[in-house]
Amino acid sequence: MTHTVFRALTTRHLDDLLVRAGLDEADRVRAAAVAAVFPFRTNAYVVDSLIDWAAAPDDPLFRLNFPQPGMLAPADLARMEGLIRSEAPAREMRAAANEIRRRHNPHPSGQLDRNQPTLDGVPLEGLQHKYAETVLVFPSQGQTCHAYCTYCFRWPQFVGEPELKIATGDQAAMSAYLRAHPEVTSVLITGGDALIMRTDVLRRYVEPLLEIDHIESIRLGTKALAYWPFRFTTDPDADALLALFDQVIASGRHLAVMAHYSHPVELDPEPAREALRRVRSTGAVIRAQGPLIRGVNDEPAVWSRLWRESTRLGVVPYYMFVERDTGPQDHFGVPLARAVDIFQEAFASVSGLARTVRGPVMSADPGKAVVDGTAEIAGEKVFVLRMLQARDPSLVGRPFFARYDPDATWLSDLRPAYGTDLLPT
Ligand SMILES: *Cc1c(COP(=O)(O)O)cnc(C)c1O
Ligand code: SF4
Repeated sequence: MTHTVFRALTTRHLDDLLVRAGLDEADRVRAAAVAAVFPFRTNAYVVDSLIDWAAAPDDPLFRLNFPQPGMLAPADLARMEGLIRSEAPAREMRAAANEIRRRHNPHPSGQLDRNQPTLDGVPLEGLQHKYAETVLVFPSQGQTCHAYCTYCFRWPQFVGEPELKIATGDQAAMSAYLRAHPEVTSVLITGGDALIMRTDVLRRYVEPLLEIDHIESIRLGTKALAYWPFRFTTDPDADALLALFDQVIASGRHLAVMAHYSHPVELDPEPAREALRRVRSTGAVIRAQGPLIRGVNDEPAVWSRLWRESTRLGVVPYYMFVERDTGPQDHFGVPLARAVDIFQEAFASVSGLARTVRGPVMSADPGKAVVDGTAEIAGEKVFVLRMLQARDPSLVGRPFFARYDPDATWLSDLRPAYGTDLLPT
């Protein structure tokens, strides 16, 4: 396989790429206006191996990476477009972009305050401890990705607003916290992308975990298998990465690569398959998760192909997420009623081996809620929901009901059914 060196394509390359997609000047300015607010980044592998340029700008993989006018409200779009056309000073552009960003709910679901743990009364930056058994670690070196998804809810971590970031560089504090919390059995290292880090940096977060007996599983949140499979094959420290995986497995722990897949096309290129083979050869389990996104994957056939191909390749389907209430959700969101239909139609068409997947799942303030379906009981049409995870463990697994609402897109839009107040808060 040819050796491929990673190089990010950023806003400097945007206009040329939009020309390649066949966009006229007016559309290119609109895209640039969006890219001034939400971060843009892609790379040569995505551009050459995933996007179908003959189908751009409507190609789902193009939409996955490239800014679209609908991501901004018309007034905000017109404002940014005006600033670009009048060649406004960078300072003015930044101020306008920041003002728009702040209106986009950058940290939904109480992420910054409600989930931050403390050690001896001192808040720990870059750790989240929401569910008793699992701690999330956000290494400061992992807060970027090989390409950016347009729908990403972690965008505040990629733009230069320090107060909107969560990240850690302090492995000693991480270890001390985990040692003090024997209820924690699973650590999820994420970002951004845990595998954007060089192997020697990742090792500094992983090795201390191998010294803590009660940590039974380590998960790495990543989209590198889709966006940069060379991370596992020909990158200079790819072999070192696989050796680190071997080391985790040899310690007697479960290593899970939580692979973000948005579309089955991401599984097709040979480098992607080679990466899967190499990771699986270590004994790590690859699990697939991704959000349901309008215009990218909002068809049952896309999900059934994703789950079938995943299963064929030894990747375990895990979650289908509902796009959260942040960023350009108005543009990418799919109503819960439609999400349930898409999930169920896809689920019905795959073998039991692929029915490990749960969805559609909302990772909301009280916990992870799955919409199991709709039902009509005693003359009232309802959504049937269940908590897969909850801050309050007594809620896990318990069904609850909400009034059917064809327009609801999030847990907070739902109203209790049957005059009860059964919705978790
Ligand atoms: C999803 C999630 C986890 C892991 O939950 P599992 O049910 O083990 O997949 C942990 N912490 C947070 C904040 C999460 O959103
Ligand atoms: S890979 Fe994940 S964190 Fe990175 S841009 Fe996409 S959604 Fe965001």
